[in-house]
Amino acid sequence: MSFKNFPMVSKVVFGRGCFNQLGDIISPNRLSTKAPFIYIVDDVFKGNPWLTSRIPLSYDDKIYYISANEEPKTSQVDELVEEIILSYKELPSGIIGIGGGTIMDLAKAISIMLTNDGESKDYQGWDLVKKPAIYHVGVPTISGTGAEVSRTTILTGPERKLGINSDFTPFDQVVLDPELTKDVPKDQWFYTGMDCYVHCIESLNGTYLNSFSQSYGEKALELCKEIFLGETLSKEESDDKLMMASWHGGMSIAYSQVGVAHAMSYGLGYLLGVKHGVGNCIVFEHLEEYYPEGVAMYKAMREKHNINIPQGICANLSDKEFDIMIDVALSLEPLWENALGKHWQKSMTREKLKDLYQKM
Ligand code: NAD
Ligand code: ZN
Repeated sequence: MSFKNFPMVSKVVFGRGCFNQLGDIISPNRLSTKAPFIYIVDDVFKGNPWLTSRIPLSYDDKIYYISANEEPKTSQVDELVEEIILSYKELPSGIIGIGGGTIMDLAKAISIMLTNDGESKDYQGWDLVKKPAIYHVGVPTISGTGAEVSRTTILTGPERKLGINSDFTPFDQVVLDPELTKDVPKDQWFYTGMDCYVHCIESLNGTYLNSFSQSYGEKALELCKEIFLGETLSKEESDDKLMMASWHGGMSIAYSQVGVAHAMSYGLGYLLGVKHGVGNCIVFEHLEEYYPEGVAMYKAMREKHNINIPQGICANLSDKEFDIMIDVALSLEPLWENALGKHWQKSMTREKLKDLYQKM
């Protein structure tokens, strides 16, 4: 047996207002006045001086405002990389992603593809990246995905929805300022927060579980219960805790895996463009058989916060479309093995999956 030896985020700063330190934090990493810092920023912040006036620009530094309405695509990564390479004489000093999982994943992928040849689709998989990425910084503005700590960047490519999982993917620096999450709309807060909750349930109930994962997963789950079911937290305390729950949830799956909900959510995402957080919720509604306690608690959280989950999204799909989703879901073998054990193929059949998708 060989044990995973994986890198973690090298540096992290936490606290309300710590975003103000970004300039001081990154400036020692400036390679030259011609090597800019490139900011990849969620366009929800465009025209919002509360955030943008604090982005420390000098020399040729540049902000790209990117929409997070759709999840990142390999073609989008390749286009941005080409544009950056053509715009400057030198490689950037660093890439700074400011936003949710969509934007952080884009920033990670761009930093990898600036130093690695070919197209980003060639690197979807495990340990295919050859050269270190350029310095990259993650600044989450919504909590739950764990993208700020993870060793992957999930991309939709021409053939698959799969991450670039590599030792070069994790951020060199993360800035955890919970104040940046204050204006997240309520439904989105819940969907992305549930991504964290589902990470905990899938990790803690998986066959890959070990004490390393458990220690992080239990902490994240405890925080989720306080945030989504408790009565006593202020908005600030709740936002602070959710940012840390996201971190711990991400650490938990770093040494285990996710499970049934994620495998099926990837299928919905690939075929229908359903986003990760809400996709997990749509699927989780129907997984009592696999996670009875986790699903019951999820439903209590959803009811308490009066959140609508889209229904009937698979109502009019053709057999061919169901097959595409089933292929995507079944291709994620480690997720199934974690959820159901080595002999998962015996219990998880195409028919079973179709039956579940038809309920959504
Ligand atoms: P997101 O980045 O897609 O953003 C969701 C919505 O919230 C967007 O409309 C965005 O504009 C808005 N938003 C973000 N911050 C805001 C703020 N402070 N105020 C107001 N609106 C704000 O959401 P997400 O759930 O964080 O990320 C989902 C993505 O993360 C998916 O692409 C998924 O594949 C990826 N993901 C990656 C990992 C990983 O380990 N790399 C893990 C899980 C999910
Ligand atoms: Zn997730």
